[in-house]
Amino acid sequence: MTTPAVSPRLAAFVNEAVNTFSKPEDAAAAQAALKKVRAEFGREYELWIAGARHKTGDLLTSVNPSKPSEIIGKHHKATPELAKLAIEDAHAYFPEFSRTPVEKRIEMAARVPAIIRERKFEFDAWLVAEAGKTWYEADADVSEAIDFCEYYARQMQRMAKPDPLVQMPGERDEMVYLPLGAGIIIPPWNFPLAIMTGMSVAALVTGNTIVIKPSSETPTIAAKFAEVLHAAGFPARSFALCTGSGSAVGDLLVEHPKTRFVSFTGSRDVGLRINELAAKPRKGQIWIKRVIAEMGGKDAIIVDREADLESAATGVVQSAFGYQGQKCSACSRAIVDQAVYDEFVEKLKTKVAELTVGPSEDPANYMGPVISAGAKKTILDYIETGKKEGRLVAGGAAATGDGYFIQPTVIADIDSKARVFQEEIFGPVLSVTKARDFDHALQLANDTEYGLTGAAYTKNPEKIRKAREEFFVGNLYINRKCTGAMVGAHPFGGFNMSGTDSKAGGPDYLLQFVQPKSIAEKI
Ligand code: NAP
Repeated sequence: MTTPAVSPRLAAFVNEAVNTFSKPEDAAAAQAALKKVRAEFGREYELWIAGARHKTGDLLTSVNPSKPSEIIGKHHKATPELAKLAIEDAHAYFPEFSRTPVEKRIEMAARVPAIIRERKFEFDAWLVAEAGKTWYEADADVSEAIDFCEYYARQMQRMAKPDPLVQMPGERDEMVYLPLGAGIIIPPWNFPLAIMTGMSVAALVTGNTIVIKPSSETPTIAAKFAEVLHAAGFPARSFALCTGSGSAVGDLLVEHPKTRFVSFTGSRDVGLRINELAAKPRKGQIWIKRVIAEMGGKDAIIVDREADLESAATGVVQSAFGYQGQKCSACSRAIVDQAVYDEFVEKLKTKVAELTVGPSEDPANYMGPVISAGAKKTILDYIETGKKEGRLVAGGAAATGDGYFIQPTVIADIDSKARVFQEEIFGPVLSVTKARDFDHALQLANDTEYGLTGAAYTKNPEKIRKAREEFFVGNLYINRKCTGAMVGAHPFGGFNMSGTDSKAGGPDYLLQFVQPKSIAEKI
């Protein structure tokens, strides 16, 4: 693999363009990349711990959710002893890595996107195959991974030169940012490249060492990312890839006294467990562990009587069914003013009927599979509950095919206390609820323990003002869909049970990975 050169002065940040695959040459390149990665399907991947490869013979197998008989990768799983070694070695190497000059760390971080960009179609293909993303969704994920690195490299340049402090007479006063130590990076499967890359590179560029515990659904993408970190020049012991289930090695990594921080993105229940375990000091531990936990959502879109209904229906459908509703930002609740409710539900029905479901590698499909057999069962169970709690308007069952396919499902007339209105389903299921007016719609939207994303469609400036003030979410969108946050423009993170609101892709994100030190010198 070539290592593209990186200029020490980084140009202004610009978001990576997302490929729509509308050009025949791009569509052809995508299929060629899939052919190339398919030749690697079923390959074995070793662990990367303490700067060396390890095999345990105990293999985790990942499959293509569009075609579960197709094995994507076989991954050696870490034993508890290896997981312990991973964190202890990351801790032991931290003093050396943390002294790496900041320019060098920025240079390595900026090489990561250069390498991913060179292999973009190939990464797209891995995401299509292992995560069940359609080509467009896969390219959006890969583009976001690129953006996170480009953005954090530039933020690190800024952080390396903090604003001057007030100078006391006769003193030189300054504040510098120190890395924390060895951290655990725990990403979810739904943005298997972007979120893993963002959390990892943020931790590394600020000078921390890391142990990546990838999702058991998408370990191949994690193994490919580890190759990129190597190629970008990150030292062999600055990161470890510790594949294994959350229950087998997750708790151990979180609880270990040498773990300094945990950067987690995933479900509410796992996030809360990590937060609880990390809070308890262990023998030999001399710090309070920092937990960055970005968790679930039950995101709502309000459709007002003064909205452009056509655009609102398109926004709701895209937010609810893009990547099969498996985005933390996905719209799972449409809250619609009673004056336009029936008309809006009809529009939804028409648009949902146009959605195609099938293998994600086929560009004709708007929706691919859900991630696993377990997820499919849970989602279908929720659909059955929803049928009792409301009126089925579209979908309502599995879709045909060998993969984990589910029809895009819309259930109307849902009460705000219903389970499908309150619980995160994480699949292609949209609840629709009637509101008396805009104020009532805001009340319903806020009637949740989550607070991640939300959108309001209205042309009324006073209602827009109200939404800005009262819609209690970390990411609010007005007259646009509630998915598709862009690095730099829409710093991402939620309130309440949606997490610690770390605002990934925002100007303050790197602060989670450092501790500021104030130095006053008498002169
Ligand atoms: P998950 O089940 O919570 O798993 C997330 C990660 O935690 C996986 O790597 C998982 O490993 C690991 N894990 C599980 N148990 C653990 C334990 N005891 N200790 C340490 N790690 C453990 O979530 P998911 O199904 O992958 O992802 C979907 C969820 O993520 C949804 O709730 C979604 O809303 C949320 N999400 C939030 C954001 C955000 O920015 N707020 C972004 C994306 C996704 P295994 O795979 O081995 O179990």
